[in-house]
Amino acid sequence: MIYLDNAASTWPKPEGVADAVKKAIVEYGANPGRGGHRLAVQAEQAISGTRHKLAQLLGVRDPGNLLFCLNTTHALNLALKGLLREGDHLILTGWEHNAVARPVEWLKRHRSVQVTIICPDEQAGWAKQVEEQIRANTRLIVTIHGSNVIGEILPIADIGEVARKHGIFYLVDAAQTAGLLPIRLDDLPVDLLAFPGHKGLYGPQGTGGLYASPDVPLVPIIQGGTGNRSEELEHPGERPVGFESGTPNTPGIAGLGAGVEFVLQTGIEKIYHHEMELIRQLWEGLTRIEGVRLVHPKPPVLPILSFNIDGVDGNEAATILDQHYHIAVRAGFHCAALAHRSLKTADRGAVRVSPGYFNTSEEIDQFIQAVREIAEAFRGFSHAW
Ligand code: PMP
Repeated sequence: MIYLDNAASTWPKPEGVADAVKKAIVEYGANPGRGGHRLAVQAEQAISGTRHKLAQLLGVRDPGNLLFCLNTTHALNLALKGLLREGDHLILTGWEHNAVARPVEWLKRHRSVQVTIICPDEQAGWAKQVEEQIRANTRLIVTIHGSNVIGEILPIADIGEVARKHGIFYLVDAAQTAGLLPIRLDDLPVDLLAFPGHKGLYGPQGTGGLYASPDVPLVPIIQGGTGNRSEELEHPGERPVGFESGTPNTPGIAGLGAGVEFVLQTGIEKIYHHEMELIRQLWEGLTRIEGVRLVHPKPPVLPILSFNIDGVDGNEAATILDQHYHIAVRAGFHCAALAHRSLKTADRGAVRVSPGYFNTSEEIDQFIQAVREIAEAFRGFSHAW
C-alpha cells in the first residue's frame, strides 16, 4: 500500500513510537500524578518528558503552558470555549477546518458570540483584512496556520501583530504545520496554538495539545480529578493539570514523546525539504495530465495538494486508487466545509494527496501514473455530479 494521506494522520510512524507505547503498557501501566508509588512516578515522568520535548520543539520556555489534549479538535474547543464569553466578537477565516468552524457555530447559537468570517482574498493581505473587521468587543482572532485542503499558509506573525496592537487574543490552528514549519512560540505574537500529536509530530492518534500563554485568562471546560488539591470541591485551574482532568492517555503521550524525539533528531528542515520535493514532483506530474484540475492555481508550500479529474467523482477516483492501485488518498470535503465553499469546490469536493516523510519519489511516480490512467479511462465521460 502506498500511503498518501498524511494530512489526516502520518503513517507509518518512526520505530521508537510503538516501542514507547508498548513500554508504557507493559512496564509501568500506573496512573500518573495520582499516587506516590514508583510506577505512578514513572508514568508521570513519561508525561513530563514528552511535555519538555514539545516545549523544546515549539520554543516554549515553560512546559507548563503546554496542555495535553486528545487531538487538535479538543484543543481548539478548549481554547474557544474556555475563553469566549456571552456577546464577544470573534474573527476567523474562510479557510478554517470544521474543528474551528463547528465550535464557533455552536458558540454563536448558544453563547451569542458574534462572528465575522473573512473571505480569503490573498491579494488584499490577510493581516489587513483581519484588522478591518476588528470591533470594540472583538476578543479573539482564530486562523488556520496551514490549510488542510490546498497546502497554503497564512502569515501568522503578521496577523498576531495586528492582534497585539489591538489587545485581542490570537488562536492558531497548527494541525498541518506543527513539526513541519519552525514555530517558536515564545517569540511569536500568538496567545494560543492547537496542535495534533498524530500528524507532523509522528505520534499516536488520541494525542495533541494546546499552548496557552500565561496571559490568557483561559478557564478549564472539563472539571474533575486532577491529582492535586483532591480535598477541595472547587476545580483547581492551575496549569497544566487543571486543564487535563481525568486519567490521561499515558501510552499515547509516551509514544508522542518518541515521535517528537524523531522530529527533533531528524530536524524539521530536513523533513520539510523532503516532503516539498515530493509535492513539487506531484505538482509537475499532475499539471501535465489532461483532465486533471488542481483546486488551487499556485504551487503548494505545504505537502498537500487537491485536485479533481474530469468525468469521475472524487470518491470514485479514490476508491479506484485504493482498490486497483493500492494507493491511499482522501476524497470529499476533508472536514472543511468553509474552505471548500471559499475554494468553489463545495459542489464536489476534491481528491487530496498528502505525502509524508516516509514516502519516496518512486511512490509519487506510481501515483502520477495511476492518475494518468484514470484520467484517460474517464476522458469524454460527462460529469456525474
Ligand atoms: N485543523 C486542521 C487544519 C486539520 O487539518 C485537522 C485534521 N484534519 C484538524 C484541525 C483536526 O485535527 P484532529 O483530527 O487532530 O482533531
